Amino acid sequence: MLVSMRQGLDEASKGGYGVGAFNVNNMEQIQSIMEAARETKSPVIVQASRGARSYSQDRFLYHLMVAATELYPEIPTVLHLDHGNSPATCKSAIEMGFTSVMMDGSLMEDGKTPSSFEHNVAVTREVVEMAHAKGVTVEGEIGCLGGIEDGHGAGGDGLEHLTDPDQAVEFVEKTGLDALAIAIGTSHGAYKFSKAPTGETLKMDTLIEIHRRLPNVHLVMHGSSSVPKDLQDIINQYGGKLKPTWGVPVEEIQLGIRNGVRKINVDTDNRLAITGAIRKVLFESPEKFDPRDYMKPARDAMKKVVAERMTEFGQAGHGKDYAPLPISEMIKGYANGSLDPRPSMAGAR
Ligand SMILES: [Zn+2]
Repeated sequence: MLVSMRQGLDEASKGGYGVGAFNVNNMEQIQSIMEAARETKSPVIVQASRGARSYSQDRFLYHLMVAATELYPEIPTVLHLDHGNSPATCKSAIEMGFTSVMMDGSLMEDGKTPSSFEHNVAVTREVVEMAHAKGVTVEGEIGCLGGIEDGHGAGGDGLEHLTDPDQAVEFVEKTGLDALAIAIGTSHGAYKFSKAPTGETLKMDTLIEIHRRLPNVHLVMHGSSSVPKDLQDIINQYGGKLKPTWGVPVEEIQLGIRNGVRKINVDTDNRLAITGAIRKVLFESPEKFDPRDYMKPARDAMKKVVAERMTEFGQAGHGKDYAPLPISEMIKGYANGSLDPRPSMAGAR
């Protein structure tokens, strides 16, 4: 059943857990996510980037998402737009039926050039007004992540545009958004850190400080694949050529969850699992040519990673905690102010 992301994150906040947001480009990926959610009894966020929407001509992807809610009616499912680059992109997702959108105004519309604070506030505020009138959740971003994924990103090493905690408070007050993505040194893609991250490269202190100042705002960690060595090894063992790389350790994500992180974006780990499984089949059985012979193991491999993350983030077992509110209730809540962010009311929720 479809659920608003705001409700899903409010529930996660009450339960003290995080919710993984997994990217979808095709049928096998969404099947993996929904099977993992069913197996672990988890609520789930499925998200599509602009790249995914163009790869799937938008409509294929949307109907896959609808199919997921039909086939897994017991699972609270959020349909989220990842990294919308403009109010127009967010509008098209809202019109299509997404229950949540990200307006990433930390970059200009080209998805590459870091923007000014004023630009970010203006476009995010515009999307908040448009989305909340329809009961749709809004995620914004302050500071820029490193790396580039699907042509989106500021590039660099993740430390160039870290989130300033003072600016984060002002941003929430000025935009009225529901969830805030912050830059603490992580990057999109597989190459996040050139060695195991330390407090110098992964700024968990900054995250904790932002949570201290914004105790009632749902924080989002992007670029949070763990890039485990065993998944890298499978790819390289069967002919791949990944360079050594490190991701965000699960224990750091769990520290984040104890400090206000409610949404964790994971994509690279799933890509690695799929590619490793396909390479293994093609390497071991070069006579095979039916795509199902390698897509089935790929699907199983991704499902396993997603289920592990759901357990590690704590969302496992929380799929039946709540009944999704009708979207009309969300519209009412935004209109009467009961769903406004309350940045200054420490611990009031
Ligand atoms: Zn991201």
